[in-house]
Amino acid sequence: MERNNDSKMVKGLMERLNDGEHVIIAEGFVFYFERMGYLQAGSWVPEVVLNHPDKVKSLYREFVDAGSDVVLAFTYYATREKTRLIGKEDTLEQLNKNALKMAREVADEKGVLMAGNICNTNIYQPGKKDREDEIKGMFKEMIEWSVEAGADFILAETYAHLGEALLAVEAIKEHGKGLPAVVTFAPFVTATKNGKAITADKVLLTEACKQVKEAGADVVGLNCGRGPNTMLPLMKDIMKVCPGPFAAIPVPYRTCDKEPTFFMLTDPVTGKKVFPTETEVCSCSREDFSDFGKQCKDLGIQFVGVCCGNRHYYTRSLAEALGRKPASTTFSPDMTKHYVYGSDAKVRKDVSEESMDLYHTLRDI
Ligand SMILES: [Zn+2]
Repeated sequence: MERNNDSKMVKGLMERLNDGEHVIIAEGFVFYFERMGYLQAGSWVPEVVLNHPDKVKSLYREFVDAGSDVVLAFTYYATREKTRLIGKEDTLEQLNKNALKMAREVADEKGVLMAGNICNTNIYQPGKKDREDEIKGMFKEMIEWSVEAGADFILAETYAHLGEALLAVEAIKEHGKGLPAVVTFAPFVTATKNGKAITADKVLLTEACKQVKEAGADVVGLNCGRGPNTMLPLMKDIMKVCPGPFAAIPVPYRTCDKEPTFFMLTDPVTGKKVFPTETEVCSCSREDFSDFGKQCKDLGIQFVGVCCGNRHYYTRSLAEALGRKPASTTFSPDMTKHYVYGSDAKVRKDVSEESMDLYHTLRDI
């Protein structure tokens, strides 16, 4: 059992996974708040945590109501490098601590897990020792703040390089006080080696997952960059060579063989690239996420979620596909009482028949 408040004990991450359960995680905070107008595309620093903490807390709650088993502290890109970039390094500690504190509060209130979050720093360069030391320092402080705030596990994510993912595992082992580590690669690289996906430091993705697992990660897999269609084939390859449990957290966009990552997607009408602010035109449907949930169930992928672009309804569709009934299922669509399409006896048939005729017929009257 994990730490929670005095009256509620919540089953821990590894206990759930060992018992064959699924664990759902709603992510995508950075894109969400950019869309809401509280975070800037480009630097992507989660300043909203300090400027509008109420909105962050509200989204934590919303995602749990949608079916998330985890409140992920919104510290994605709350790194020393990112705050330096916008000249606000002095806000770093407070930002992290606030995000974590609110996450713990909501997790306790809702009876779910809370995870600390570290991620890609964007300054990693293979073989550069000074950079490695700088990154280790960033991971250390964020992991320590997470432990202090009572995180139940650490999610280390969006690594394009194996080298940086290994630094993350090492840091969690060293400073995480035994907390489980979920470590995921972002399959951004589209170049391949012998037709197989590779990391940015040109290691086979399958091999990279294996190495991260051997280094001590408890859960391995992929997050971000790809939609369900182009992430799951990579997961299948990873699962052939690497021991689980596995994580798959795609973006909700319709990536395909021709455009396997969301960086490559083009607007079907204008032909322009849509990343990062027009991606909605290539959005997944809710059903895409039901299908994703079913496929994860069939494949045996237990740690599942939605990354950048997540909205309430994607998480809910995923949760419902896994047999859950999250709080917001109360308001899952039920068209039986719709005035045109409804089949309920109380719907006035004369109105619905008339409307159907008017709304569904292309003709000159
Ligand atoms: Zn993402």
